[in-house]
Amino acid sequence: MSYLRKIEWDIIPDNKPKVIRNCPKCGKRTLFLNTEKFRVNANKNLIDIWLIYQCSKCKSTWNMTLYERIKPRDINHEVYEKFLANDKELVDTYGFDISLHNRNKAELLWDSIGYHVNSQEIEFSEKENEQEIKISCKYPIQLRVDKLLSQQLNVSRSQIKKIYQNGLIYSSQEEKLLNSKVKDGMKIYLKCSMEQLSQLNGE
Ligand SMILES: [Zn+2]
Repeated sequence: MSYLRKIEWDIIPDNKPKVIRNCPKCGKRTLFLNTEKFRVNANKNLIDIWLIYQCSKCKSTWNMTLYERIKPRDINHEVYEKFLANDKELVDTYGFDISLHNRNKAELLWDSIGYHVNSQEIEFSEKENEQEIKISCKYPIQLRVDKLLSQQLNVSRSQIKKIYQNGLIYSSQEEKLLNSKVKDGMKIYLKCSMEQLSQLNGE
């Protein structure tokens, strides 16, 4: 008989990704930091909006284009106000957007952003022997599934691999689950209890 315990892991990045791009003043590729500020320019009924980055070496700024010469009616008034107020969530929406940065010839750097996980018990079972972990991850932080599982379950990565090879960790969505990146809405199943896991770790 299977007793399912349901957990949700909400993965929250600790920092904004940095950007690598060519700095004209430094004359080479440097690291740029997200200033978390927008610049909005309204001119003759046309609006430009940028997200401002700053070179970590020479401090010169780079405005990354978000909208170019759009008409006021093409932008929601509420959203426009958020740009003016440097709304934090909006900063993240654009600061984590991979294709937007590609279009602006800037490369996002994921190594040093860090993350933390808010874990929430959705359904509890006292005799649990199977667990469903639902991942909520709003931003594509390029985190590997095996790294997340190892850190969250407090089991080494090689143990995670062993458990996976024994068919005790699986997901209906991913074939090479452990090597894949964490995605929003992903569900991972563990066919063992937390107690069995901690025993495995002591081996
Ligand atoms: Zn520079």
